[in-house]
This record gives sequence, C-alpha cells and structure tokens, in this order.
Amino acid sequence: MVGVDAAVPLIELRGIRKQYGGRDGAPAVDVLHGIDLRIHAGEFVAIVGQSGSGKSTLMHILGCLDRASAGVYRFNGRDVSQLDSDALAWLRRKAFGFVFQGYHLIATESARENVEMPAIYAGMAANARAERAGRLLARLGMSGRMDNRPQQLSGGQQQRVSIARALMNGGHIILADEPTGALDSRSGAEVMALFHELAGAGHTVILITHDRQVAGQARRIIEIHDGRIVADRRNARDGSRAEPPVPAAADAGVCEGEGAGVGICVGAEADAGERGRFTESELPAIDLDEVGRDPGPGWADLHEALRSAWRGMRINRSRTLLTLLGIIIGVASVIIMLGIGEGARQRVIAQLGTMGTTIMYMGSRPPPTGGPAGQITEDDLSALRGLPDIRRVLPVIGDPLTVRHGNVNRGIYVFSASEEMPSVHQWDVAQGRFYTDAEDRDLAPLVVLGSKARSHFFGSEDPLGKQLLIGSAPFEVIGVMAERGADSGAQDYDDMVFIPYRTGRARVYQVQTQPDYVVLEARSSDRVLAAEEAVRQLLLARHGGREDFGIGNAAARLQAEADTRRSMTTMLGLIAAVSLLVGGIGVMNVMLMTIKERTREIGIRMATGARNRDVLRQFLTEALLLTVTGGVLGLAGGVAVAAVLILAGVPLVLSVKAMLGAFACAAATGMVFGFMPARTAARLDPVVALAGE
Ligand code: ADP
Ligand code: MG
Repeated sequence: MVGVDAAVPLIELRGIRKQYGGRDGAPAVDVLHGIDLRIHAGEFVAIVGQSGSGKSTLMHILGCLDRASAGVYRFNGRDVSQLDSDALAWLRRKAFGFVFQGYHLIATESARENVEMPAIYAGMAANARAERAGRLLARLGMSGRMDNRPQQLSGGQQQRVSIARALMNGGHIILADEPTGALDSRSGAEVMALFHELAGAGHTVILITHDRQVAGQARRIIEIHDGRIVADRRNARDGSRAEPPVPAAADAGVCEGEGAGVGICVGAEADAGERGRFTESELPAIDLDEVGRDPGPGWADLHEALRSAWRGMRINRSRTLLTLLGIIIGVASVIIMLGIGEGARQRVIAQLGTMGTTIMYMGSRPPPTGGPAGQITEDDLSALRGLPDIRRVLPVIGDPLTVRHGNVNRGIYVFSASEEMPSVHQWDVAQGRFYTDAEDRDLAPLVVLGSKARSHFFGSEDPLGKQLLIGSAPFEVIGVMAERGADSGAQDYDDMVFIPYRTGRARVYQVQTQPDYVVLEARSSDRVLAAEEAVRQLLLARHGGREDFGIGNAAARLQAEADTRRSMTTMLGLIAAVSLLVGGIGVMNVMLMTIKERTREIGIRMATGARNRDVLRQFLTEALLLTVTGGVLGLAGGVAVAAVLILAGVPLVLSVKAMLGAFACAAATGMVFGFMPARTAARLDPVVALAGE
C-alpha cells in the first residue's frame, strides 16, 4: 500500500475551486465550486457525472496536470501548491499513470516505445526499460504487437498500450478519464477487468466516467454535478468479486515482484500471447522529500531524442526536404560564394603580384632641405642587396633611342637592366631566352625584344640571331618576351627592347654614372613597408643623413589591395548572413509548425512526467538534427556545384575553412532559431497541450 500512515489520506482536497477565463476579456467560468475529497491508498473510486460537470477538470487537478484556482490539495499530507513545475512533473511520473478516452499515444512511435516513454523521463536505463515495457505489454496480451504503431492497433489494443504506459513507472495511482468511452463493449469490459486486477494488486484506481454502469464496478462511487460533489458512497455490489472477469485468463505462472511498482506474473505461456495476472504487491511509499532525485534522461538518452527526431523528419519527408532546402541552399551558396570570392581574391592578388605589390622604385633626387641630388652607387646597391627584407635589387637605365634593323628605323625605349628583370616583373620569355648574369659581366651585346617591338622590326620573320642596331652598337636578338598587355598605363612594356645592364652602360649609355632608377623587390607583400623603411634607413646612414633619394610609394598599391580584399569580404559576409538568415527562418517556421502539430504529443510527454527542460531538449535536438542534415546536404551540394563551375572554367577556390564555417553557422542557426520554438513548446501548460490537436 502507498504511504506509511494509513490515517493520512493519499489524496486530500479541501475547498478546491477552478475558474477558467476571467483574463484577456474572456468571461470567467467557475467549473469547480469547492470540492472536498479524501482518497486513501488502494481505493478503487469512480467519479461519475454528466458531461460538463467538471470531471476532467477535477482529474487534471488530481493528476497535477493543472493547478486549482483556490483550495488545498494535499498529497500524502504535503501541500502540492508549494511545488514548482519540475516537482509536479516528478510527482506525475512517480505517482500517476494516466489513461485517456482517446488513448493519447504518440502516433510516430511503436507500442513499445510509447510504453517506455515515462521511464525515459525517470532515467531508467535503456535495457531495463525495454525489458519492462516488453513484459508489461506481454502481460496485457500485446506480445505480438509491440512494434506496431498506434494506427495499426485496434482501440482496445491502443488502450491496453496506454495502460501499460501508465504502469511503466509503477502507476501507483491510475487516473482514467472515460477509458472505455471510445471502446466497443467487449474491449471496454476487458479494460475494466484490468482495472479490477490493478485495484486488487494494490493500485489506487480513480475512474472517471459519465456511465453509471461503468461506475457501478468501482468500490466507491462519487457523484459530481455542476462542479459539486453530490454523493459519495461505498458500492454495495463490489468488494465481493473474488475473480476479476478477465477473458481468456491464464494460469498465473511464475510471479515476479517488482520493486518499482506492480508485480507482474509472467506465465510460462506469456510469450505465446497468454496473459499473466497482476498480483498484490507492496508499492513503495512516494516520498515528496525525494522530489527530483531521480536522474532524469541522461546523455545516453540523447540518441533516443535523436532517433525520434529522425523518425519525425522521415515521416514528413517532403516537408522536411522543403525546409531543408533553405539551409541546403544557404550552406551551398555560402560555400560557392566564398569559393568564388577566394578565387577572385587570388586572381586579384596574382594580378597585383605581376604589377608588383612586392616592388618599390628608388631613385636619386634633391633632398627636400635643398642641395644636389645624391648618387646611388654600386656600393649602395650591394648594401641594399644585404638587407633581409630585400630579395632583388634591379638597377635600370632606360631612354628612348633610335633602333634600326634593315630599313626599319624607330625611336624606342631601351631598357637596360640586369638578368633579374623577368623574375622581378614576373614576366616570361616567349621565344628564345633571356641573357644571363655572366653575359652581363662580359658586356655581351645581346638584346631581348618586347612583343610589339618584335613585330615592328621583324614582322613575321624569325628574329632570333638577327642583328639590331641600338644607337651605333650592334646587338644580337636572343629572345622575345611574352605579351604583357598595357597594365601599368604610362609605359607600354611590350614596345621596348631589353639589354644587359653593364652592357648598356658600357656600349649605349656611356655618360651615365648611376642607374635612372632601381627596382627593389621585397621578400613578401606584407614586408614591403618594413623593407621600404629599412632601405630608407640604410641609405640615410650611407648618405650622411641626407635624404637625397626617393622611394616609390608601394603603400598606395597595398592600400588598393587591402581595400579590394575588405570590400570583397564584406560583400560575401553579407551574402552568407542573408542566406543563413533565410535558412534559419525556415527552420524556425517548420519548428513552430511542428510544435503546433504536435501540441498533444507535448502534452502526453508532460503527462508522463517530462520536465520543461526535457521538452526543450527534445525540440532543440530536432532543430539541430534538421540543420545538421541540411548542412551536410548543403556541403555536398555546394561541392558538387563548385566542381561543375570549376570544370566550366570559373576561378573558384574551395576552402575547408569556409566549408566548416558554413556548416558550423548552419548548426548555430538551428540552435538560435530552434530555441524560440523549443522554448514555446517547453512552456506549454500540460492541460492546454493535451487538449491540443
Ligand atoms: P467533464 O469532463 O465532466 O465533461 P470538464 O471538466 O471537461 O467536464 O468541463 C467542465 C466545464 O468547464 C465545461 O462547461 C467546460 O466547458 C468548461 N471548461 C473546461 N475546460 C475549459 C477551459 N480551458 N476554458 C474554459 N472553460 C472550460
Ligand atoms: Mg471530460
């Protein structure tokens, strides 16, 4: 029996009133007008009354699904109004088992999973849970139907599943609201027989019905009319029944006492679909001091939440896919956009590279404080070559000179620079070769042509090995540069000829004492400013503190590069944000829809003892699973589209970082946009949720 002191009623109501409405302009309706009631452990009570008399309202209050507007409800001597919603959930899963007229099974779960549910919220281990649910169902003659969904079961069978669920956590007090109301008379009789057995086994059974005949089977009958108890009497007819009318009742077989509640007798034939019987067993007392001490669902049960979330997604396959479409497109577009952005960025950097982001120009000039321009000496150049941030030093002399081949005579820019010219300008030789350092030292009279210069002087003729007269000195053509295009505006590099630096000084520019300018190449584009400063300091030191030289401003180019980078990143960030927002709103929308559709399921979960946070966790898990699935599909789709684009020649660079980032954002979006609906679900009132669609 429940309770230690038989004198303390298990349930005691004093002056319980319930008023609906009275807020937000809704008229106040008094449904219960002061109910006084005591029910002791082990009683079999029927509460009977016409439809609308307040029976269900009373049951919801008894079962801690709803709170009274006034009055005192003592459970085992303790005032229930002091308990918070978690404690009430604890009491529901520990003490009560609900059986409803409409069964209230979760449609997407199998019979066994429906029965297991209260134990999940009580924190029972998965094996023990499955075993107990199996035994309860077998005991109720449902061994062959455990994996069936509710729609695949008859009304009577569904009601037996819901009774098994009510017993899952012990079911000390069975609260049954019109349990036979939807059943044919034979199934109804079977269900009633089960209640008799349970009452016989020590459960407290509170049966709510409008049907006097059904009520007549209880040991005590309480009549309720218009929210008031009008009669409360012992049933003379009852109590004498020695053998409950179990149709097809089998031999009891081996009985097995259960610590946590009902004793289940499993007959040898139980597996063959025969029923065992409930036997009298001591139900442990419900100690309100232990509120919340049960572990609740642990991390191990996360896969339970995932499994049911996954099932929900599969059942609503087309809707799931449509919702996911938002996230799939979001993630895929983020990946593709970032890929295109990165591709464009790398192309810009490559272009800036050929224009020379790592390149500075230096020349002598009069110092700002007055006086003559300085001399950039050979010693200065070798000192500059020794600077750690400087990779190459390219002295250049260049002037328009008259150049002749056969009868073609042109004024053309003659660019005299060391053999490093092609690498400094990232420029390839298209035909033949460039001169070497050794040839430069030997003052070899060799010339390499720009592509335009080549066609001016040689037309379609092969220029290699031909002679070119520069000034009055003959030079041999050894190569032609690749076409460069007009990338730097003022000078057309394609319309020049190139000769070795020392050769130039010795044979063409004899009067020149120093280079026209020096091209300096820094080790990397992010070292340009440091390199520029190092060059400045070195030359200042060498020139006795006089700034009689100038260094071409690389900062402007760097600025341009940085700007390009920044605006590109901003734009792509915006696109990413928008697509994720769209995906997130999709998730929120479908979650809100889901919650609307599954309000009753939420009510059922709460009635079987789910805490607010259990419901929150369930729906957050669903939102997360939704977005993670969308994220995975989006990744796959994005990579596929990117592959097609790359094959089509679009400069696109996929980065793992972008993919992980997009995926993480999708998951985070799920959490953020799933949280509001999940919290809405968790905050639902159990009674309101149960009454939902
Ligand atoms: P019974 O179960 O005996 O048929 P109920 O307890 O369901 O009766 O309802 C009793 C009365 O309370 C009815 O008149 C019903 O219209 C009213 N009622 C029930 N629930 C609400 C509610 N949420 N808001 C307003 N009135 C309600
Ligand atoms: Mg009712």
